[in-house]
Amino acid sequence: METLSSVAPWASAAAQARLRELETTLAGRDVLDAVRESIEAHRRAYDEDGVVLYAGTNTMTARARSVHDPALSSRPSMGWPGEKFQAGLDHLDALEVLAPTLVADVMGGRFAEVRLQSATLCNLAVYTAFARPGDTIAVLPENANGHASHHAQGAAGIRGLRVVDLPYDPARIDLDYERLPHVLRLERPALVVVGASLMLFPHDVAAVRAACDEIGALLVYDASHVAGLLAGKAFQDPLRDGAHLITMSTYKSFGGPPGGAIVTADHDIARRVSRAAYPGLLANYDIGRLAPLAVTAADLVATGQDYARRCMANAGALAAALDAEGFTLAGSGRGWTASHHLAVDARDFGGGAEAARRLAAGGIHLSGIELPYQAADEPTRGLRIGTQEITRHGFGESAMPKIATLMRRLLVDKQDPADVLPDTTALRHTHRVNP
Ligand SMILES: *Cc1c(COP(=O)(O)O)cnc(C)c1O
Repeated sequence: METLSSVAPWASAAAQARLRELETTLAGRDVLDAVRESIEAHRRAYDEDGVVLYAGTNTMTARARSVHDPALSSRPSMGWPGEKFQAGLDHLDALEVLAPTLVADVMGGRFAEVRLQSATLCNLAVYTAFARPGDTIAVLPENANGHASHHAQGAAGIRGLRVVDLPYDPARIDLDYERLPHVLRLERPALVVVGASLMLFPHDVAAVRAACDEIGALLVYDASHVAGLLAGKAFQDPLRDGAHLITMSTYKSFGGPPGGAIVTADHDIARRVSRAAYPGLLANYDIGRLAPLAVTAADLVATGQDYARRCMANAGALAAALDAEGFTLAGSGRGWTASHHLAVDARDFGGGAEAARRLAAGGIHLSGIELPYQAADEPTRGLRIGTQEITRHGFGESAMPKIATLMRRLLVDKQDPADVLPDTTALRHTHRVNP
């Protein structure tokens, strides 16, 4: 058999080395043993002992976890309740009504498409519904963390769209609203997508919508990262301020099972999205995911405002604590953050990827991120932090200086990660494992 490491020769040297190492150590091992060992070690190190600051993940609430049923997720389901391709699934029809109704409601819309497995597929469904191959889409630049699914190498390219960058102001870490109308008149995109993988500050959605209306463009707000804040009526209200629709991940700040959703208040838009999803991009899908999704949305209705407020307070407190420890943060001219995200400039620590590896060895898990003001040829310069998971684990503002100190010991003082790890674990253990 060809080895996995030979399939993607363009993957980094580190990836090639890691794949070869695994191919060697796993050869001949009992599969069940190897799989169990892998997931057990992960659960301990990441879920129980680690401080997870990675922005693209979360932990589900105990109520949502209680209805997460792997047996259900192994049952394919196709078509609408009442006309399912496979007979006998009627008891599950309730999930297909509860999940979209609750998601639409908590996001401030009237309709939600929740069947697609990821936000990437949601973006593809929107491109399919509202643009034809050859049409133009205007998105946030890559170094401003416009997502791969907005760009030529991802879903936008797969739909055959011509991708242009929206004008951006790196100093303010937001769109350049002054140049925006001019750029849209020049490029005449069918779709304008705002929202990115680093969301320190809200967009001026009303200003973007006004520029879109001049040329008849549809405005999409990709809320993948901030959906939980929007559900908590915090940060901003894109649908009220003029976005035609929201696309989102259901597992980042929203805190549900992995998946995507598209939300709108417009009936015609909802119909076109629904058709693009099914029978467009879906046949059978994982209906088991809709159970924890419905409960997650219900939990956000009940407690989302408090959760969002605490996520944002923690981000502000962590930014201030990191600043006090001598770190440089993005957005310093604007108070660092107005969301649950913050970004540390890691240039002095070998860049974002290198710094993230060092922090992981010390039990703190996050990712690198491009900083909008970094040079084009500079490797990923920032570290992205999201406070959603630690907030669910009960970390409050008083714990933020402790996290900042651990990060200083690992990155600035260059202490041996093995010496810091027990202190990270101890801090984690002073908070609850299951929210
Ligand atoms: C994470 C992210 C996505 C992709 O979500 P998946 O569910 O992983 O496909 C889309 N858009 C933005 C802005 C994101 O940050």
